[in-house]
Parts: sequence; structure tokens; C-alpha cells
Amino acid sequence: MATVNATARAEVVRRKVHDGMLPPERCLKLWAGVGTGRACEACEQPTLPPDIEYECQVQEARTIYLCRPCFAAWEIEIAQPRA
Ligand SMILES: [Zn+2]
Repeated sequence: MATVNATARAEVVRRKVHDGMLPPERCLKLWAGVGTGRACEACEQPTLPPDIEYECQVQEARTIYLCRPCFAAWEIEIAQPRA
């Protein structure tokens, strides 16, 4: 099991939002379910049961997949006021 500490995870999420690899806007639609082994788009680790995978549609044509801790870090990041 990958262990990524919270500070490092927040930093990865922040960088990916900055680089456009993760969207800066909130979900239009959100689903959560038991992991299917798909790689999280933030930490790049597969989300395996019993961990929860979040599937978040942010635009009509864009859906991202995040593990639970990365989803939490992403929500915090995009809630920050833009500089
Ligand atoms: Zn993750």
C-alpha cells in the first residue's frame, strides 16, 4: 500500500492543478464507489478495494478519477482563492 504523507499529496495536487492536469473547478457530477484498480490521477496509485474511488465529471467531456485522500486534497486546493 502506497503511503503518501498529506503534505506531499497536497503538493502534488497543487502542482497538477497549476499544470492543468487536474481541473481547477468543482465537479458537475460526482460518483463514489469501491475502487476498480484505476490509477488515481493525482497520486497515480491504483485505487483498490476497499478504498473508495471518486469519479468526478468537471466538464461535459472531462471526467477525472481520484482516490479518497487525493479527492479531499483537491477539494481543498480548488477552494483556495486564486492568486
Ligand atoms: Zn490519489
